[in-house]
Amino acid sequence: MLITNGKITTFGETNEIIENGALRVEGSRITDVGDTARLKAAYPQEEIVDAGGQLVMPGNICGHTHFYGAFARGMAIPGEPPRDFPEILGKLWWRLDRALLEEDVKYSALVCLVDAIKHGTTTLIDHHASPAAINGSLDLIAEAVAEAGLRASLCYEVTDRNGRSGAQAGIAENVRFLHAVQERENPLLAASFGLHASLTLSAETLADCVAAGFSSQAGGGEGGSGFHIHAAEGIADQEDSLRRSGKRVIHRLHEVGILGPKSILAHCIHVDAWEMEILRDTGTWVTHQPRSNMNNAVGVAPVETMLRGGIKVGLGNDGFSNNMWAEWKTAYLVHKLWHGDPRRAGGYDIIQMAVDNNAALARVFWPDAPLGELAPGAYADLILVDYHPFTELTAGNLPWHILFGFEASAVTSTMVAGKWLMRDRVLLTLDEMAIAAKARELSAAVWQRYVELDA
Ligand SMILES: [Zn+2]
Repeated sequence: MLITNGKITTFGETNEIIENGALRVEGSRITDVGDTARLKAAYPQEEIVDAGGQLVMPGNICGHTHFYGAFARGMAIPGEPPRDFPEILGKLWWRLDRALLEEDVKYSALVCLVDAIKHGTTTLIDHHASPAAINGSLDLIAEAVAEAGLRASLCYEVTDRNGRSGAQAGIAENVRFLHAVQERENPLLAASFGLHASLTLSAETLADCVAAGFSSQAGGGEGGSGFHIHAAEGIADQEDSLRRSGKRVIHRLHEVGILGPKSILAHCIHVDAWEMEILRDTGTWVTHQPRSNMNNAVGVAPVETMLRGGIKVGLGNDGFSNNMWAEWKTAYLVHKLWHGDPRRAGGYDIIQMAVDNNAALARVFWPDAPLGELAPGAYADLILVDYHPFTELTAGNLPWHILFGFEASAVTSTMVAGKWLMRDRVLLTLDEMAIAAKARELSAAVWQRYVELDA
């Protein structure tokens, strides 16, 4: 297939915008990129999809999300509003996750996947919790991902907050799914080993996770897929870690063997210089989720410092909408306000996290070909964007066009691995109306169970 008559926005090493450009898709990959006239002449027999002058861009990548949180939308939290992050966890998330049963797990994922396709987010790294339905939960999400046709890496968050048996069931689910993914036919699915956060993990459980992780090749070694955990999201995580172990969170996690070039630490807001040094030296991934951080009032991660020092920081959404450009914009704005300096967090810092580093993070899970760029050999994960600039648009000023001009509603078509998931705003793999109707029915029952758990 040739996608012609587009502004091909390559990102990646070439980082150019090819006016009246085209690209050729064969199977799951891009095989040629260039001028429309040249590609039409070179491939006269190909099916042609005319982009009509739209931008053709790599699909967005989300480095950390929670499909399971979808049913929180519009839900009332009984009693006094939570006054800090631990209260938000206790009153909202740790009750909502316990109210989820099997079908809820699947539909929470499906509604997020609809949202991702519509907003042009083609790769998602999810972190799942459903303590009342642990065993097999990742298969339910995997089914939803396969129906959607998106690319996703999944894990189950191990925690001690549902007792020793809950922790062991979480470990078993990670191990089971890591093996299942290796045997699974679907190359769009990947896995890592999930843990909640230092503050809900005892020394024994951490050790069990690392032992199970390495035995299922989830450790840092070749062929493994690493760990995915929240770290230093609130100050409570540091206080708890010091109380339990006499060590700060990053030191505690490093000492047991959680860190490494395939592991993801979400947030890392309250980390000091020596913890950053460990993150850099171990090549550990950090993800930044400013919308969630603002909502929870937990602070702002020192991502500019981390980037300057060579820490690999990507961008996630922590369960907020899969409109990743909204997360880009928040990242661009919040550091300016936080530091009282409009020079902070420039457009290139945002691109480095959201495009370059997220692409490299995705490569941990899909090592065979590049994502996040349009180049021969890269996966054909791309979007068409109906954006007509009224000022000059170049590869150099593209970040500011995105930050100030792009809306996710401009995404008209979404392709993953060479397959259209949305064309001209029509979803091709998922039935949004039917999914939303079923989700409304299921979520009403989830809200009811949530209130009963609260009583
Ligand atoms: Zn999270």
